[in-house]
Amino acid sequence: MTGVHPPLTADELAELTGLVAAEQDRLAAQLAALVRTFDELVDAADLEPPDDEHDPDGTTAYERAQVSSLIIETRSALAQLAAAAQRIDAGTYGRCVACGDPIGWARLAAVPAAQRCIRCAT
Ligand SMILES: [Zn+2]
Repeated sequence: MTGVHPPLTADELAELTGLVAAEQDRLAAQLAALVRTFDELVDAADLEPPDDEHDPDGTTAYERAQVSSLIIETRSALAQLAAAAQRIDAGTYGRCVACGDPIGWARLAAVPAAQRCIRCAT
């Protein structure tokens, strides 16, 4: 690994643009599914008798907390991808927002929404 990465080629940028769009689609579908699951858990909790000896509400509350944190994570990932799409439109995508150096193909391919180069991110 050298410290400095070459800037993205037009082909690489086109591929990453596709990756960002595909990730946005995937996460939007995931978010919709999570919200549905959350609503079902809320409905299920409403139907459970509160005095059940097996305390199903404890389990449901736990699942609800898990789904809820996944929803927050997915929304945050979507926001980062939207910001990446804006940088693609602005022509600043692929450059570290902290130091201005190219982020590098390998890192962007792994994390298309990356805003910082590996040096500034760590
Ligand atoms: Zn940097």
